[in-house]
Amino acid sequence: MISISAQEAFAAYEAVRHRLPAAQIRAATYREIDTLDEVAAEFDAFLLDAFGVLNIGETAIPGVPERIEGFRAAGKRVLVVSNAASVAKSELRAKYDRLGFDFPEADIITSRDTMAAFMRGAKGMTWGVMQGSNAPMEDFSALALTSLGDDGAAYRDADGFLLIGSGTWTEKRQSLLENALQEVPRRVLVANPDIVAPRENGFSAEPGYFAHRLADKTGITPEFFGKPFGNIYDLALARLGGIDKSRVLMVGDSLHTDILGARTAGISSALVSEFGFFAGEDIAAAIATSGIVPDYVVARP
Ligand SMILES: [Mg+2]
Repeated sequence: MISISAQEAFAAYEAVRHRLPAAQIRAATYREIDTLDEVAAEFDAFLLDAFGVLNIGETAIPGVPERIEGFRAAGKRVLVVSNAASVAKSELRAKYDRLGFDFPEADIITSRDTMAAFMRGAKGMTWGVMQGSNAPMEDFSALALTSLGDDGAAYRDADGFLLIGSGTWTEKRQSLLENALQEVPRRVLVANPDIVAPRENGFSAEPGYFAHRLADKTGITPEFFGKPFGNIYDLALARLGGIDKSRVLMVGDSLHTDILGARTAGISSALVSEFGFFAGEDIAAAIATSGIVPDYVVARP
């Protein structure tokens, strides 16, 4: 766990804006609403971020399971679009089930899926993996993988690197990776662009945090999969079939991932104000500073 505030996390995202998609001009102002019900008639599909929209830690945000049921009863589609990359899909689904949601696995779209889809067919290289947990790697089983631990040989011998989960990553491993890349530059693919993730008692440093650091140090340009990059939205929109994009709303608690990503993808967006990243923060100032303007600011999803 790293000790940083929401303001510091916001500043960390602003500092890497040159590696994020450009914020395209969209609405100059946003409309404030109380819940998504106020605008539900305007949309046929909802893409929901997980932390800060569905849940905070192991607790569902009050009213959200019922709201999703209502959307479905009205014939609307609801997908989860998350940068959760380090756990298997079955585990994610079990977690949401426990919280009172009932998403089929195919309706949970993750940054990990996005990388796996991109890697399908990639053969003939050995990838060093920052994995972060003991989750099975079935979705990458066609690839030759070697786990990145404390042995320098794994870093030297890999043809490229996949940064998927940072739960067991250390400063020593970061140094081994940076040194190996300085000696021989190689591709670095990152399945979770998040810099930090809010936990019950602070923020954890995510793969994006380490990827931006190594980019600063080695000059390598990491290839990112997940919000705010377009690739994960392509996957989500493909899951929805030939839907009218003007009828899709992304709902999230992070300007630099959920909202910036929605704008990159050309869909509407709603930023949650009372839960998650901006709970208790000056959301108007954050929108003005970043220039990332959602269509709606919704108090409670
Ligand atoms: Mg979130």
